[in-house]
Amino acid sequence: MLIKTILNRLEKQKSFVYESLSFSEETQSIEVKIRHRSNSRPKCAGCQRPGPGYDTLPSREFEYVPFWGIPFLFVYAMRRVDCPCCGITVESVPWAKGKSHLTDRYKWFLARWAKRMSWTDVSNAFRTSWENVFRSVQMAVKWGRDHVDLNNIKAIGIDEIQWHRGHWYLTLVYQIDKGRKRLLWIGQHRKTKTLLRFFRWFGKDRSAALQFVCTDMWKPYLKVIAKKASQAINILDRFHIMSHMSKAIDKVRAGEARELVAKGYEPVLKGSRWLLLKRPENLTDKQVIKLKNLLRYNLKAVRSYLLKEDFQFFWDYISPIWAGRFLDKWCNRTMRSRIEPMKKVAKMLRSHRELLMNWFRAIGQFSSGAVVVFNLKEKIASRKSFCFRTFQATEVASYFTLGGLPEPESTYKFC
Ligand SMILES: [Zn+2]
Repeated sequence: MLIKTILNRLEKQKSFVYESLSFSEETQSIEVKIRHRSNSRPKCAGCQRPGPGYDTLPSREFEYVPFWGIPFLFVYAMRRVDCPCCGITVESVPWAKGKSHLTDRYKWFLARWAKRMSWTDVSNAFRTSWENVFRSVQMAVKWGRDHVDLNNIKAIGIDEIQWHRGHWYLTLVYQIDKGRKRLLWIGQHRKTKTLLRFFRWFGKDRSAALQFVCTDMWKPYLKVIAKKASQAINILDRFHIMSHMSKAIDKVRAGEARELVAKGYEPVLKGSRWLLLKRPENLTDKQVIKLKNLLRYNLKAVRSYLLKEDFQFFWDYISPIWAGRFLDKWCNRTMRSRIEPMKKVAKMLRSHRELLMNWFRAIGQFSSGAVVVFNLKEKIASRKSFCFRTFQATEVASYFTLGGLPEPESTYKFC
């Protein structure tokens, strides 16, 4: 069987013919010469309409999927079209787009590998440049975003992450419906304008169909949601609230540890950071003993820890009335604790009481664990996706790994 036959089976090009195949000693690659059918008219790259030919450019190479690890090139001399609408343009060919030196097939091939390994690994494995891998992923993301199905989205979660060593923020919007979790949108900053941009992209009708929006207590977000999706129940998610508490504990512990040292006391808080931040069930046996020891001391850090652990019961309530009572009692107790960072948390919870109670209105219809789990997933992906310097690369990588984007149906997948 000739390779040409295989090519015609997998990659038949309408109006074009695979002419000859040869191994080039010079470039150490397999070259397939392509010519257009004699009766075919070139298609304008601008408007995709066939037009009269103008002239023919020198031959160009397009990289196809390597064969036995040998570079595989399509060679074709492109025609220029004298288009009545667009003027003189280069013809469009079915195997590649624009000025790209990679065929679409090869781009999909690289992009699929980039799902399994790092972009650098892919570029090394297939002896191509990092930029080529990036452009391939970018193409896959663009195609996926153009064809993404945005129907029946009932619940979204809005999250912010620090970026560029904490100097910048990114806003992430996820779909968090029961059967479907994915990244819908990513934008730079965490301002009112940022989230407004999401809603503009998402559209009025879809925004009006939202039932739940899960967020942090970040004011600009709350403001935009109240305006753009006022019918939806705005839930303050557990993960964010508990992380506010953890931050407070961290502050108390650090301050108190310094104080103990300054006053010449035994440094009992040394190495206690994770003991106080982790849930008890996640501690190792050794840490359990250490924590038990630490809890004997009447320290602010210990009292903060106990307040946090006590607050975990809040999420287990089913009745909103009882949950409300618990919340008020907890806030009162914390306000009397004389621990400033914890008092700040209590004040914040009080001022968002109504939104907090939405949790119990939503429970049952909405799986509470979903958000937490999804956050974890984002944290894992963040190492890979959010270490890029430019927003463009970060955006592409995030959609690529978390967007759940569709791919075109193809009769043959190369990998
Ligand atoms: Zn045209």
